[in-house]
Amino acid sequence: MPTALIHLIQTAASLTLWLFLLAIIFVPLEWLFSVNRQSTLRAGLAADLGFYFMNGFIPTFVLAFPLGVIAATGRQLLPDGYQLWVIGLPIWLQIIAALIIGEFGFYWGHRIMHRVPWLWKFHATHHQPVRMDWLINTRAHPIDIIFTRMLGLSLVAIAGLGSPGSGSGSLVPVIVLLIGTFWAFFIHSNLKVGLGWFEHVLSSPRFHHWHHSRDDHPNHNFASVLPVYDRIFGTHYLPGKQWPPSYGIAAENEPDALIATRYDRPVAEPPARDPA
Ligand SMILES: [Zn+2]
Ligand SMILES: [Zn+2]
Repeated sequence: MPTALIHLIQTAASLTLWLFLLAIIFVPLEWLFSVNRQSTLRAGLAADLGFYFMNGFIPTFVLAFPLGVIAATGRQLLPDGYQLWVIGLPIWLQIIAALIIGEFGFYWGHRIMHRVPWLWKFHATHHQPVRMDWLINTRAHPIDIIFTRMLGLSLVAIAGLGSPGSGSGSLVPVIVLLIGTFWAFFIHSNLKVGLGWFEHVLSSPRFHHWHHSRDDHPNHNFASVLPVYDRIFGTHYLPGKQWPPSYGIAAENEPDALIATRYDRPVAEPPARDPA
């Protein structure tokens, strides 16, 4: 059997396993601790499962080569002393450093996606849902994921912390990608959980739900893991203990229908909630 086909089957099997594990974690928790009362078998589920698999394949495949080139170029340009110092750091410190550096790129990549009209056409796919749950995380156009991931992981590679798919030295960015991906499923989830004091340093479902709010708050809370960047750059928004009244894209922000697909709209009524 051709190697490419074996790789394709292995990736599909691993994505299916991850989907199964994520569902085991999030479906019962969302059922027990929901923000909004809604069915697991909701509108748009089939499309969002399609997005999950598509985005498990395409961005990784597209980014492997350019990130490998950036990491190799970094190795040529960075002083040997610096590279030896970086790889001599404890692995946990490398992971924290890569998270902080990568998140800076993710933050600005995400913010640019909202700011530049033709990029918003791609990112709008992620903002169309009028209900939130964990699977909305991967409901995104592949160009959107490629763009933000490229910015974040390029900075990690330039900092000498390796690149996913570059063989040796790929451990740190792979762990950062895994942490970031799991956390991204968590902050999209329909989970009424607070992080207490940790909400100052880590994004929470409520923090990211405000980013999916239908009114003007999508121009806030761009960070995926570290809200400190929103505080530094003036885009932080987290009112009291409130959750957004509705989700989706306000009529004036609708992109044309060329790229974004239609979703389960229109929904006039707010999500069903238990009294706070
Ligand atoms: Zn966004
Ligand atoms: Zn989101």
